[in-house]
Amino acid sequence: MGLIELLKKDVRFQEGLTACINCGTCTAICPAARFYPYDPRIVVDTVQRGNEADILTLLESDIIWYCGECLSCKTRCPRNNTPGYIIQALRDLSQELGCFIKSKRGRQQLEVKRIIGENMIRYGYCVYLDEIDLVGHPEQGPVWQWYRDNADSILKRLGANYKGDGSGTLRKISDEDMLELNRIFEVTGAIKRFEKIEKLCEAKVEKA
Ligand code: SF4
Ligand code: SF4
Repeated sequence: MGLIELLKKDVRFQEGLTACINCGTCTAICPAARFYPYDPRIVVDTVQRGNEADILTLLESDIIWYCGECLSCKTRCPRNNTPGYIIQALRDLSQELGCFIKSKRGRQQLEVKRIIGENMIRYGYCVYLDEIDLVGHPEQGPVWQWYRDNADSILKRLGANYKGDGSGTLRKISDEDMLELNRIFEVTGAIKRFEKIEKLCEAKVEKA
């Protein structure tokens, strides 16, 4: 099956692409286009033209990893396209086919998986205070260190129930709910996807 056919099977692609008139409104509103070599209009035009070689180039490129998925483009497109959804479908296919491994930004999915993905599986939260690695993420700046140093008073002021039983912000997610969450990750194929990302990245390191 061709790449465009695979994309068409994705509900986000079906929803995201109606008919692009190349007006560029999405690019004008896109925050990622302001900071990166990224142009959602060109992405939409590429998939709309349906050239397999061009789509493969997209799947193997950094381009599809610049989008912040803010969906500002959805609100402004005069033809009801959603470039952000198209990007989500492209990212999914890139991971499924292993194309992401050819892109530096694509390979950053390993970190996303190890941090956000594994936090979800372990704790039920994508960002978990105890797991913020300050040494590994200097780009977070001194703010995270400040959070860490003042966690008790911050959580108290927020009225959080950090790791506590019962209800409340940042509470411990019950064992029953964690089982259910893990089951969701399993039946939706997320666990398999995680394994694939690990395996492909490991193979890439061994090859290098
Ligand atoms: S705003 Fe919509 S119609 Fe205009 S270029 Fe972007 S996707 Fe195409
Ligand atoms: S969803 Fe992506 S493409 Fe759309 S405006 Fe946001 S960053 Fe840009």
